[in-house]
Amino acid sequence: MRILVLNSGSSSIKFKLFSMQDSKVLASGLIEQIGEEQGRASLKGGAGVKLEREGKIADHGDGLSLMLAMLSEAALINRLDELDGIGHRVVHGGEAFHEPTVIDADVMAAIEKLSPLAPLHNPANLAGIRVVVEKDPELPQVAVFDTAFHQSIPKYAYLYALPYQLYEQEHVRRYGFHGTSHHYVAKAAAAYLEKSSESLNMITLHLGNGASACAIRAGESVDTSMGLTPLEGLIMGTRSGDIDPAILFYLAREKGISIDGLDALLNKQSGLKGICGSNDMREITDRAQEGDERSLLALEMVSHRLKKYIGAYTAVLGRVDVIVFTGGIGENAASLREESCAGLEEGLGIEIDPEKNRMRKSGVFTISTESSRVKVLVVPTDEELEIALQTVMAISAAHR
Ligand code: AMP
Repeated sequence: MRILVLNSGSSSIKFKLFSMQDSKVLASGLIEQIGEEQGRASLKGGAGVKLEREGKIADHGDGLSLMLAMLSEAALINRLDELDGIGHRVVHGGEAFHEPTVIDADVMAAIEKLSPLAPLHNPANLAGIRVVVEKDPELPQVAVFDTAFHQSIPKYAYLYALPYQLYEQEHVRRYGFHGTSHHYVAKAAAAYLEKSSESLNMITLHLGNGASACAIRAGESVDTSMGLTPLEGLIMGTRSGDIDPAILFYLAREKGISIDGLDALLNKQSGLKGICGSNDMREITDRAQEGDERSLLALEMVSHRLKKYIGAYTAVLGRVDVIVFTGGIGENAASLREESCAGLEEGLGIEIDPEKNRMRKSGVFTISTESSRVKVLVVPTDEELEIALQTVMAISAAHR
């Protein structure tokens, strides 16, 4: 069974082709700068296959044709109908979608209706879906939503204390994101520990350029740090995470910054970049080791914020069995993992073993001590594989 996973952005399409019998990646690639003067495309396949293309890629349709041509040159597939299905990452599913959903005209209309909640992402995701419908209307397509895993969060946790009609009429509430990743690493952690997901309470920390924490009780998300949009919560590469919302009124009044200016300030100029000028954790760690004060400060701020969320979600869950670190930073930045759990030994029973933490390993590994009440794990995330698995499940459920 062959499943193609597509993650369509406004000017790019990331793709991964899976053989589902053995969950093996047959090829992965990226179509970039769609719509610009000079587009680029690349594909990596098994046995050292590497293809690269340059030239104008007019739109998403052109991009997908190019992807197919490259997959054909790599002797993988020649036509879309050789696939068993396509799984699309769709960022915002609002309250309409709790699970992966086979796409039809109604689902496409619903994704479009949700676009005001994710103006950069949903229209791009939809463009990818539409192009496939045009090319092969019979091919099963599944939408896998970033928000779906968090639909189990109880109302008292997802509502903001704003006038209730803003929820009823404008759908203002916490939705949460990175759901596919939180779900995947939680299942992988349970499998590694040889326990059922239902028997475990976990805090999963997805720390990449975007970052979010999730409290998971018996396999279900019960709280998460991102909100209506992916801006709330942890300190991220260029996003502020939690701030006092009154800072915005203050800056608008005192400095005359426009709404678009404030949006850019919080989403693009803040976070690690705002504090120390870089959003690359490798660079920041190196600079901190050389004694750069701002880089040190940025690291202290990030681990302090993480610590606060670990504490808060411990209280929400009542008992925590497992903490998972994942994402580019969570999987690699050992010192940040250590700092964010430092001082939690006695109170919360979280004890990192510095040696295990600094050992670089592939796959899932434990970084807590034998005596730690809470197991702390590093679990590499694989959102594309999770999308492929959920696509297979949704297609087989639809055929039942
Ligand atoms: P992601 O969005 O999950 O791809 O993660 C991107 C972040 O992971 C960036 O801040 C990178 O600097 C960081 N990252 C990637 N590899 C490493 C590494 N080996 N050590 C520290 N940070 C890393």
